Parts: sequence; C-alpha cells; structure tokens
Amino acid sequence: MPWDVMVGGRGTVRPVSPGWSSPLGVGPLWQGGFMGHVDAQGGAGQRRDGTLEGPTLAALRDDAAADLPTTAALRHALHRVPERGLYLPLTQRLVLDALADLDLEVATGRALSSVTAVLRGARPGPAVLLRGDMDALPVTEQTGEPFSSQHAGVMHACGHDLHVAGLVGAARLLAARREELAGSVVLMFQPGEEGDHGARLMIEEGVLDAAGSRVVGAYGVHVMSSTLPVGVVASRPGPLMAASDQVRVTVEGRGGHGSKPYLAADPVPVAAEIVLALQTMVTRQFDVFDPVVVTVGRVEAGTKENVIPDLAHLDATVRTFSPATHAAAPERIARLCEHVAAAHGMRATVDYQRGYPVTVNDAVEVDRARRLTRAMYGAQGWHEAEVPVPGAEDFSYVLQEVPGAFVFVGATPAGLDPADAPYNHSPRARFADDALVPSSAVLAALALDRLAQG
Ligand SMILES: [Zn+2]
Repeated sequence: MPWDVMVGGRGTVRPVSPGWSSPLGVGPLWQGGFMGHVDAQGGAGQRRDGTLEGPTLAALRDDAAADLPTTAALRHALHRVPERGLYLPLTQRLVLDALADLDLEVATGRALSSVTAVLRGARPGPAVLLRGDMDALPVTEQTGEPFSSQHAGVMHACGHDLHVAGLVGAARLLAARREELAGSVVLMFQPGEEGDHGARLMIEEGVLDAAGSRVVGAYGVHVMSSTLPVGVVASRPGPLMAASDQVRVTVEGRGGHGSKPYLAADPVPVAAEIVLALQTMVTRQFDVFDPVVVTVGRVEAGTKENVIPDLAHLDATVRTFSPATHAAAPERIARLCEHVAAAHGMRATVDYQRGYPVTVNDAVEVDRARRLTRAMYGAQGWHEAEVPVPGAEDFSYVLQEVPGAFVFVGATPAGLDPADAPYNHSPRARFADDALVPSSAVLAALALDRLAQG
C-alpha cells in the first residue's frame, strides 16, 4: 500500500483501546458457541451449510503457529534483499524456491516478475485467489534488525516481505489439506504495488483465470507496524481504502511588468483563486457523507516580485472513497479550473492522472473473514474498522473484478505502543514476525471456507 497519507490522520484504523493485547495464543479460543453441533452429513471438516468446523480451524491456527520458524526465516531472507518496482528477480527466486516442493502449477509474469501458482484440490470446485505483494520502498533502513536490508536505500518498510511469507505459509497449510479442498487456489505473488499498478498488469496477464475459470473470491492482507496490536485482524465492509489521483493544473497568462498588470495577463491570482475555489467546490458539490479530499501540495509560478510570469502551476492529490465520487471528480475539477481561468480571460489546462481505485470490500466476504478470525483467535482477534483509511492499494483492481476482502493485520512489535510505534514507510518501522501466523491462517481459512461453499 502506498502508505503516505494513511497513517497518523483522522481516518486511520484508530480504536486501539489501552489494554488491548495480542490475540495470539491467549484468551478463549471458541466463542459464540462455535464448537456447537457437528454435522455428520457435511464433508470432511465442514458443516452442512459448507462453513468450516471448529476443529478444522483450530488445526489451521495451530499449524500456522507451528510453521512460524519456516515463514519467519523466509520473511528475513526477503527482508535482506528488498527490490523496488515491477522487476524483482531476487524476490521472485525466493518465492519460487519456497514453493518448489508443494506440487503447484507455477507460472511467471511477462511484463513483471510475478509468480502465479495454482494449487489443485483433490475434489472439483471453483477457484479462489490469495494475494501477496512483493515490492519494497526507497527508504534507508534504520531498524537495527539483525536481518536488515543489504540493499542501500531500499527497505521493506511497508511489510510486503511479511505478505509474501504469509502467503507462502497459507500455501503450505492448504497443500497439506489438499484432500479437503474442493476446487483450486490461485496464489498471486505481485510486484509493483507501490505505484506501479502491478495488480492491474497481473490481471491483464490472466491471473484471475489462472486456474481455468474466473476466481469466485479474492483475499489479501496488509500488515501494520503500528495502530493495531500484533495479531489483531481489522477490516470493514464496503470502502476500506481511498482512490488516489493526481492533478496538474497549468494557468496560461501573459507575462509582463509587475507595475503594469493591466498590460499583461497575470496567472498568479487566478491560480490562487483556483486553490480556494477547489476547497469550496468539494464541500458544495459532493455529499458530506461521501467526502472528497483535494490538497494542493505544490504551487509554482514566477521568478521575481516585479515580473508577471506567463504560467502558474498547481499540483494536487485527490482522494475519494466511492466509485461515484471517483468517477465524478475529474470532470468537476477540470470544469472549475477551466472556468475560473476563463472568467479572467485566461486558459487553464488540467492533466488528471488516475491512481489506484477505491478498495471496496464485499460485505459477505468481510462477514466470512470476521467469522473465521473470531473462531480462530476469539473476539479480541477482530477489530471492526469504523471508517475507511485515505491510503490507497492496488488490490482494488482485483476487488473491482471479484468479490473479496482485504484485511489489515497488526504487526506492532512487542514492547512498542501501537499508538506511537513507527508507521509503515518509516525507516524505523519494525514488523513482528508473529503477524505471519494469523496472516497465513486467515488466508488459508478464507480459501477453504469459500471453496467449501461451492
Ligand atoms: Zn504496502
């Protein structure tokens, strides 16, 4: 996730109550009568309605915990050799090696160094997709971890090393349960999440149909080095993360002497008027309960106080939280900029660049994630996020095509307070290995549960 504005703001996954503790290995395991009736007519490990039974989930949870030395070792190996962008040969090699003995159908990408692996169940059924992003950030690591980055100026500061290792862990759990699997699981190891649209490229290369039919559910996790205690899984139905777009506005005037503006066409006050008019526009033209954030972060014009320039430039970021506002924003912003300039006899050109779309969770799939997480880790293992976060994520492209759920997993290291531990993208962001356990277990449980449904 490009995390720049996600953390620290009003919209973060906030409600971390003082006294919250990790759900890993503590607390009652089965709450809400989960261990109730076992249906003799269901398939192995399933109830009659297709959902997983308690013992199946308990075994998943325990096997994920027992596999932690393996997944943590992989995570550390990945962390030492972080790579950026769409071409990640060392990371890809580690993924391929980790999957080598699992009897999967493995393919690598053409436009990017992705890995798509299909795990076939013993019984026929539909296909589901599990995703882990692979890329790192241009950050110089300052964590002091013994497995710190060996690549100058590059760091897994957003925890994508845990996503890869957690997905391998899920694959190991599922491969050991091939007899219980009614269908296929597509494992999507994706480069280029940090701004390179890697998920979109993998969709274009066919990842959603890799098993031979379109996947019927898609799931992914994102770890957080703060704001959530380690092991807590958090999400919400509907919009979970924002769409993020960029706008560059150029106001074209006519330069001249600062003492005689009436002989020139001054773009500077027009640009200033546009900055303010944008703020008015978002509050007048968009539903207050479906907000739009426009921030003009860069203003550039002129060279000297007594010289009227030809041009003025504005750069803005636009965050939206629904497909409706995402669709409407470009035209409304362009219209405003162009007409404010026209009112002064000038011209404004607007270059509107789409970033990632809104990440929208399917309500039924979030219900599934909530139920499975609570069954494995108790009520304290799940946190219902009250509001979306204004960061963006390219798993949104997958969720535009397939119903699914994206969840956050707390990875705040022991001894740090989730309220003020260094955030994702910080050179000091540390992620607890223990977050690998629920990452693997929840992903595997989601796949098994969805496939059990048929
Ligand atoms: Zn990320």
